[in-house]
Amino acid sequence: MAQAVVPEVRRKPVLKQEIAFLLIHLMPLGAIWTGATFFDWMVCIFLYVFRMFWVTAGYHRYFAHRSYSTSRWFQFVIAFMAQTTAQKGALWWAAHHRHHHRHSDTPADPHSMKIYGFWYSHVGWIVGPDFKETDYKVIGDYAKYPELVWLNKHYLVPPTILAIAVTALGAWVNGGSPLLMFTSAGLSTLFIGFFLSTVILYHGTFSINSIMHKFGTQRYESNDESRNSIWLALLTLGEGWHNNHHYYEVAARQGFFWWEIDITYYILKGLQSVGLIWDLKGVPKHILHSKNKKHAAELRKQYEAQNPRPPVSKEIKPKPAEETIEA
Ligand SMILES: [Zn+2]
Ligand SMILES: [Zn+2]
Repeated sequence: MAQAVVPEVRRKPVLKQEIAFLLIHLMPLGAIWTGATFFDWMVCIFLYVFRMFWVTAGYHRYFAHRSYSTSRWFQFVIAFMAQTTAQKGALWWAAHHRHHHRHSDTPADPHSMKIYGFWYSHVGWIVGPDFKETDYKVIGDYAKYPELVWLNKHYLVPPTILAIAVTALGAWVNGGSPLLMFTSAGLSTLFIGFFLSTVILYHGTFSINSIMHKFGTQRYESNDESRNSIWLALLTLGEGWHNNHHYYEVAARQGFFWWEIDITYYILKGLQSVGLIWDLKGVPKHILHSKNKKHAAELRKQYEAQNPRPPVSKEIKPKPAEETIEA
């Protein structure tokens, strides 16, 4: 008989700890008093798309999954840009996400819709008191860099700098001078350009945790509820290929086939071509064409029998064990 699933006890949010999160959601309403210009809406769209890239390429593919390599200074830039979204520290984000993969759709999963329901998986776990701390042991590979730990602790520095810059820019474009920051000219850009895009980004990211574990198609037997959806993939620059990703999480691409649009991956290829990042991890052929891990092991044997690897000599470095498609 299958063992009954016993959910963990998860505590309810404490309102006074969540005032800032609530206020961020209310800030766009400030535009009722300031109005909003065409420029403000353009900033909103730009900051959504631009920062979604850093959520997926930074928080997710780099810090949580190490799906490519880069230099120490650019790694800091990645963390800083990701954190302009106000989704807490890069190490906090990645540590919790590693936990999610390890315990996907089991009671230990921080945000399983199957176990804890839609609202909890979407936002309840964020506002609840149970997942506030960073478990540095889980993210020790990056916690060894003091600058990343500093940024993780002072996670509001990047969004604050961006908010000030956006307000000054709005004051300049809408009103003619950056000194008009505290008039409608600057504040309207702050409310719509910065805060509205931040709120939409929250729910774009959260929807991967909630609805991408329920709605969509499942190509691979990933032993969890993860799904693929072209719509979410378009809205989140590639994160909607969530079943692919759960099946083979280390790949830099989440759209595994050419028709699976993954804009983050195309931009990562661009960054690789100019030398800012390297070693983008691909998807091995036996993974790509398999149904589940057992099938993948059979395919791997088959492919290796068809293309035996050359004998290893001392002078020639052996090729990596896994045949990878172009990455
Ligand atoms: Zn992941
Ligand atoms: Zn997931």
